[in-house]
Amino acid sequence: MVSFSVRHDPVPASVKIDLELHRPYRTWFGLGRLRCEWCNHKWGAHGCPQRRSAVKLLASKINSDSLRDVLTTLIGFSWGGAA
Ligand SMILES: [Zn+2]
Repeated sequence: MVSFSVRHDPVPASVKIDLELHRPYRTWFGLGRLRCEWCNHKWGAHGCPQRRSAVKLLASKINSDSLRDVLTTLIGFSWGGAA
């Protein structure tokens, strides 16, 4: 059973969906290069362009450090800049 929280959620649903859909996969012939599973775009330090913009939007909405921590584990995004 799936239940959706009705309390205020600072993360827009569209952003969540983007982050869910756009995930990296390792290409077989790419010698370890990553590509986006959804849009097949080259995966950079912050993912494909669409995920990057979703993360950017997310970052602009979030000011709380504790929430950042939650999101960091949730989406695996490093806030410390390009790694
Ligand atoms: Zn993508």
